[in-house]
Amino acid sequence: MEHSLNCNAISCRKPVGDRAVVTSCSHIFCLDCANSVNLPGHDPHTRSECPACKAHLPHPDDAVISNLVPGEEYKSIVLCGLSPNVIMECAGRALSFWAYQTTHEIYWQQCLNSKLANRFTKLNMEYTKSMNEAKAQVETLQNQISDLLHEHELLKKKGEDYLQAYKDKSRKLQQIHNLYEKVKRRAEEGPLQQAASDAVDSSILALPQPNVLGLHTKQSNYGSSRNFDQAGHLGLANRSTYIPQTRLNHLGVDGGWSQAGQLRCD
Ligand SMILES: [Zn+2]
Ligand SMILES: [Zn+2]
Repeated sequence: MEHSLNCNAISCRKPVGDRAVVTSCSHIFCLDCANSVNLPGHDPHTRSECPACKAHLPHPDDAVISNLVPGEEYKSIVLCGLSPNVIMECAGRALSFWAYQTTHEIYWQQCLNSKLANRFTKLNMEYTKSMNEAKAQVETLQNQISDLLHEHELLKKKGEDYLQAYKDKSRKLQQIHNLYEKVKRRAEEGPLQQAASDAVDSSILALPQPNVLGLHTKQSNYGSSRNFDQAGHLGLANRSTYIPQTRLNHLGVDGGWSQAGQLRCD
């Protein structure tokens, strides 16, 4: 199939098909574009100017509908009767029309190519700029992530140090608390022991003198004598005062309480 011409309307540029409107100014339009501006009208006064070059088309044959795929019969008779010069002139003008359209198409494609190249260059620059900005942002975010990870590690280590310090402080606090409880118990037990000791001292002082008790000793010190009365009793019968064994041992009395509540000396 031979190459088909395209409609010269800038907004159209589609292949014209089998039938199209050609003008004396060497332009061609599809039927839709030509009819939209009343180009193929028979009245030259109502016909619009050429949509491509704005040339006036005053004559009826300045814009005609042409069959671009003629039949064999049409090819046989279209130039019949014409002189060879006219035939060559018609063929020459038709070839010039075709050459103009081909040149126009090449120029149009070059313009499109230039615009597409410019558009591609612009888009490529925008793409390169966007890529560089994206790479810079990615690099910045990676650096921020690295810094945050480093800071996280530092905070984690600091937290572990704080936790260890807290455990040490808690252990020391527990030790101090235990020591405080122990001292507190001693402080509470001290007055009781002192009160008991005072009570013992008071009881001992309240005891009768050894001679009065009938102890056969010439010394006033209890601890230096083991001489008692014949019955071996201190004469404390029916006395209810309690004297601790340790106090008696301090006094040098080796004995204990009898069943009758009397202090027995061995
Ligand atoms: Zn068109
Ligand atoms: Zn024109």
